[in-house]
Amino acid sequence: MTTPHNRIRIFEGDITTLTVDAIVNAANEALLGGGGVDGAIHRAAGPRLLEECHTLGGCATGDAKRTRGYNLPATFVIHTVGPVWRGGDQGEARLLANCYRRCFAVAEAAGVRSIAFPAISTGVYGYPLDQATRIALTETRRHLSGDSAIEEVVFACFGAKASRTYREVLDEVFGRRS
Ligand code: ADP
Repeated sequence: MTTPHNRIRIFEGDITTLTVDAIVNAANEALLGGGGVDGAIHRAAGPRLLEECHTLGGCATGDAKRTRGYNLPATFVIHTVGPVWRGGDQGEARLLANCYRRCFAVAEAAGVRSIAFPAISTGVYGYPLDQATRIALTETRRHLSGDSAIEEVVFACFGAKASRTYREVLDEVFGRRS
């Protein structure tokens, strides 16, 4: 098996273009669409995504739920709800870590081999990018170090600042590639 590091890819661009088994949506608790990456995913997937979301009864912060991908190249969308940043002492780090753990659990249960994450909570929800990136990569390392069928984890970074941050934190969390 390859090392966890070799199973990670940093992609700069729009997550909705990725041909992977599952893309993760940074949704809100209603799961009925919104702005940012959520809006982009619903636009690209088409109206049947919203119809399926209506059947899910919302999603708690830190939890994740799966739908089909409809018009997306991805087979599934895993909707998760990140915490709103309220200064850092309201359990935000634990809740954001839960998002990644639940997404991996939902992905494994669906037989997903490749999954792409956006930078959950770092847009409208205001989570500081470097801290959120550290949680994303630490949880990914933890997951890939265990018994996992996932072969590729893509981090879709929307812009140069995010991709630079992910590259820097990747080296810290995983060690430099040899
Ligand atoms: P949240 O409410 O969880 O903060 P946002 O959608 O506002 O969610 O932002 C989450 C992250 O997704 C931000 O870093 C934002 O730049 C990024 N983002 C927005 N649109 C896209 C997209 N099409 N593909 C990938 N990332 C995106």
